[in-house]
Amino acid sequence: MMDFEVECKRILFLMTPATYRSGAFLNAAQRLGLEVVVGIDLPETLSDYWHVPLGLDFSQVEASIQTIIDFAQTHPFMAILSLDDSASELAARASVALGLAHNSPHASEAARDKLLMRRLMSAGGAPCPIFREFWLHADPVEMARQVSFPCVLKPRRLSGSRGVIRADTVPEFVSAFHRLKRLLINEGYSENETSFLVEDFIPGFEVALEGLLTHGELKVLTLFDKPDPLDGPFFEETIYVTPSRLSGEMQQAIAQCVATAARSLGLREGPVHAELRVNDQGPWMLEIAGRSIGGLCSTVLEFGSGICLEELILRHALGEDLASVERDGGAAGVMMIPIPKAGILRSVHGIEEAQAVPFITGIEITARLHNQLVPLPEGASYLGFIFARGETPEAVEEAIRQAHQHLHFEIRREIPLLNRSLPAV
Ligand code: ADP
Ligand code: CA
Repeated sequence: MMDFEVECKRILFLMTPATYRSGAFLNAAQRLGLEVVVGIDLPETLSDYWHVPLGLDFSQVEASIQTIIDFAQTHPFMAILSLDDSASELAARASVALGLAHNSPHASEAARDKLLMRRLMSAGGAPCPIFREFWLHADPVEMARQVSFPCVLKPRRLSGSRGVIRADTVPEFVSAFHRLKRLLINEGYSENETSFLVEDFIPGFEVALEGLLTHGELKVLTLFDKPDPLDGPFFEETIYVTPSRLSGEMQQAIAQCVATAARSLGLREGPVHAELRVNDQGPWMLEIAGRSIGGLCSTVLEFGSGICLEELILRHALGEDLASVERDGGAAGVMMIPIPKAGILRSVHGIEEAQAVPFITGIEITARLHNQLVPLPEGASYLGFIFARGETPEAVEEAIRQAHQHLHFEIRREIPLLNRSLPAV
């Protein structure tokens, strides 16, 4: 079933220069003998300068679609895959134009815009929190009168928990509002035209599901528990461990919930990464994205004999039947190491000790020395990743915690130069 003819098969990857995920996809494509064309989000001048064959400007969707269509006349693609959320609609629309199987542009849009997602999910019967839309130009005290506490303020189109802030009281709401507003304006959103979401806070345990959709059918690839409490006010991703320690019955209910959510958005093809909360009332949808897990997290997953998640996604995009693929036995986990405070990263210690902890399979420090670190809710990156594999989820979780204890990050606040008095001459 895993047979794969090695003939020239061309695939288009859409990516931004900043993506963490290109390495894994490019390696997988190479293993499969695919010819890869990279459509990269760059200003035209730079793509000419660097001889990028397919330089695209993701913000110019119509022009980018035309560039892809023109290129495909002489170099036809079997599939188009967006490695970043920012190109998922472009991938969908270019696929429609070229007659390739893909999620519809509307579904891709819904998986990116949390307001549209909530509307469609609640209409489609997926359990999700009560939500309201508010505008950046409106009065936060007035808003606070209309919501119930605790609640969560949330931007529509950011990711990685950026700008997601819990508020328990009116003053907390007002300060969270100002913080979110500042962040969105810094990101280039206009005060008058931007809305955001306020949702009821759903207490409970959080999980993440990796799945593949084929003609609308969901195949669960793996379910991760997030064993650290995520109660706010900010929500840093930390530890993911699979297999889940939840009951089989609850795992079934979670899969059902994700299938309903995917159906309500119209997601039908390719990878999904869904996040849910679980409490006495069962599973609740937080979000569903039409892509695989972010960062370097997928490294811990293996399917069949040494097949990685990215290879599975590529095989799926090329139309292979993957119904019987299962994740390899054993437990696996990853920690996205959160940034504890703002400042300049001066040094990192303890990597060897952390690496020596049993079951730890790797430590990647992705933050650069001497660069400014920005924690949540404004920041968009991690210090790095800790990976582990072992017999049981308990052992993997414990190993990750121990390894994290060994790591020391020296982060110094910048002293503004202007405040230093100059010596008298
Ligand atoms: P993002 O796309 O930025 O990751 P999410 O909607 O996934 O946005 O929210 C990020 C995190 O914030 C979630 O993983 C969860 O921990 C927390 N969160 C978001 N919405 C809620 C909610 N309604 N109730 C409780 N926690 C929430
Ligand atoms: Ca999320």
